[in-house]
Amino acid sequence: MPTCQYCQHRWTWKQTMKVTTTIDTAYTCPHCGEKQYATKKSRTQFFLLTLIPPLGLFLNLFDLPFWFIFGWITLTGIATLTLFPAVLKLTSTEEFFF
Ligand SMILES: [Zn+2]
Repeated sequence: MPTCQYCQHRWTWKQTMKVTTTIDTAYTCPHCGEKQYATKKSRTQFFLLTLIPPLGLFLNLFDLPFWFIFGWITLTGIATLTLFPAVLKLTSTEEFFF
């Protein structure tokens, strides 16, 4: 779970989901109100996780039943969302990709 680098408070899964549902790259800590950012490494890891559900579309090439592909996308989609707070690491300064 992500830990605020400012107040060292560990965010719960629910708090993380609430705080990160924003288009802003800065997340406001629910405890101290300071701005926190996802580290470059955790953003990369999350990006790789989001690539797993669409892989189900490639399973289509192997003549698998529709329910299997639908199940794959649904389950891996849920797993990606569930794992997101576990992958997220916070930093007090924004790190850019380039
Ligand atoms: Zn904090």
